[in-house]
Amino acid sequence: MTTGPLPPAELLDAIRRGQSFVVASHQRPDGDAIGSAMAMALALRAAGKDAVVVTDAIPPVFLQPFPDVAGIQITPEVTGTFDAALIMECSELLRTGVRGLDRSPVMNIDHHPGNTSYGAINWIDESAAACGEMVFDVIRALGVPLTPEIATHIYLAILTDTGSFHHSNITPRTFDICRRAVEAGVNPAAMARRVFDSNSFGKLKLIGALLDAMELTDNGRLAVLEMDEGMLNACGCTHNDTEGVINLPLTAREIQAVVFFKTGPNGDVRVSMRSKYDVDVRSVANTYGGGGHKNAAGFTVAGSLPDVRPQIIERLVGAISEGLKSRP
Ligand code: AMP
Ligand code: MN
Repeated sequence: MTTGPLPPAELLDAIRRGQSFVVASHQRPDGDAIGSAMAMALALRAAGKDAVVVTDAIPPVFLQPFPDVAGIQITPEVTGTFDAALIMECSELLRTGVRGLDRSPVMNIDHHPGNTSYGAINWIDESAAACGEMVFDVIRALGVPLTPEIATHIYLAILTDTGSFHHSNITPRTFDICRRAVEAGVNPAAMARRVFDSNSFGKLKLIGALLDAMELTDNGRLAVLEMDEGMLNACGCTHNDTEGVINLPLTAREIQAVVFFKTGPNGDVRVSMRSKYDVDVRSVANTYGGGGHKNAAGFTVAGSLPDVRPQIIERLVGAISEGLKSRP
């Protein structure tokens, strides 16, 4: 099968030698965060080790039914020490939202460019479409059999982080790993239904309201979505219900990029961006201290939306014209 760069020997040694592990990922976890952390923890347990997964808040509803997610420990701080703290797909340690992880030797496993290499061991593979691909490689190197539960989390990570096989980071390795996952018992149709068809009625209303208010700019190449707490409340939704909505405008042929402004309860503006092909929204996120991937990136800015909006849009228009230069 096609493999990426192999996991570093020192990482595998640390895992083989250790007995007790804490596993964490980034705040506001997505499918790759939960899938990578859970696959890693389940594999460690299958190898006879102790592994606890920690997050700072309850995972989004659509991720809760997946194997053992209910067993995740929700805590702002870990007080114990472990043989290693395995941090999955997290650009910096603070972004775990959990304090005390650095009491244990930190192993940093990520596929994001811009990772700050905060670990005692750092394994960054930007060629991986999802961190779940890297976890698969660790599990294979350790010789742990791919159980249906582990395979489910690996597939979940890849399905979500590729934007259901839309993003430009997909390689033969992605499909080789998915094939293994399906051979291990994953049902792709059921996974797609569970991940993408689990909306509440309130979320459908929210989607309607957001798309109704959507603005187009740059000759229809950039879509702008805006949401505040009032809109959420009117639809009976929470912030988790905004997951995936940003991808909808990209289904219009002309639209090359989408920006979604979400004003939170404390007035901060959370900015999410998505794009097609070579339109690089990560470069825009970087300007504001955020990060992500070429086709999916984000950041948070302090300040009111009318103040920050024009400059962000200007930068996105620039990224679109840059990206279109290389369009076949
Ligand atoms: P989102 O729009 O929140 O779904 O994020 C899209 C992508 O950008 C994901 O890969 C995130 O991990 C990444 N991302 C979002 N916000 C940040 C941030 N503040 N710093 C680094 N990466 C981010
Ligand atoms: Mn990821």
